[in-house]
Amino acid sequence: MEFNKAKKSLCMLAPSFVSIYEYPDIVYRLRALGFDKVVEITFGAKMTNLSYYQILKEQNDRTWISSPCPTLVNVIKGKYPHLIRNLVPVHSPMGCMGLIVKKYFPGYVNVFVGPCLTKKMEAQELDSVDEVLTFKELDELFKSKNIPEKITDSRFTITFDKFYNDYTKIYPLSGGLSDTLQYEDILKKKDILVTEGMANIIKILDDFKDGYYKNYKFLDLLACEGGCINGPGIDYKYPIKERIKRVKKYKEYATRYEKDLGRTGKKTQAEGLDFSRTF
Ligand code: SF4
Repeated sequence: MEFNKAKKSLCMLAPSFVSIYEYPDIVYRLRALGFDKVVEITFGAKMTNLSYYQILKEQNDRTWISSPCPTLVNVIKGKYPHLIRNLVPVHSPMGCMGLIVKKYFPGYVNVFVGPCLTKKMEAQELDSVDEVLTFKELDELFKSKNIPEKITDSRFTITFDKFYNDYTKIYPLSGGLSDTLQYEDILKKKDILVTEGMANIIKILDDFKDGYYKNYKFLDLLACEGGCINGPGIDYKYPIKERIKRVKKYKEYATRYEKDLGRTGKKTQAEGLDFSRTF
């Protein structure tokens, strides 16, 4: 990716960032690289969840399949087209956040940075995300521009820009979507199945009958073992258990200490935006 000073650029950082990078150093580093704004995807994840909640509440005529994982979506489109109607017709956190930042920061080149290769394909289907970089590609950019791991230059703002949500910081873990869905008054725990890894997913998709998978109402599925913290676009620095720990620890830290930094993520700020999508 080239930074063109004629056009401002905005980085939408996937919440799995903390599984490999240090916070808040990563925010400094992204700004030093040339991004004019750096936002977290977490508010987008909250809007994904709120849209899911409505659908799961209003339509129970099939077993719904989560749709933020483009690898899973591609497998369903290619091999199980009869199950396309089971994919929840809502944008992923990247898609939701793309719509939010296009509204609030018009004219920016909007770049998603995350652990996933197939997000590049998803972005091609959207008007709201201009480019996708994997963490591996980001590392190469840091290297080519000699951006150190620690920056203490006071020209760069320490925290993320506007929009924030703390509980969706666990989204990149397997089950992160359903754990943050706040479904208790519409679904029971036994209505939800959380699974990860392509082999497990294929078994489930093979076993669908007449639009249902057993008695489940919602399947929270991710193609990578362990979830997005184990995506193919990450240069693994820590074992997977450590990556999970880092995500949880950052969530706890943010909940305790970052509430008062002046950023919000209220539903009303996304009013008027349509987060539904088709597959
Ligand atoms: S589980 Fe893997 S393939 Fe799916 S969205 Fe996450 S990183 Fe991408």
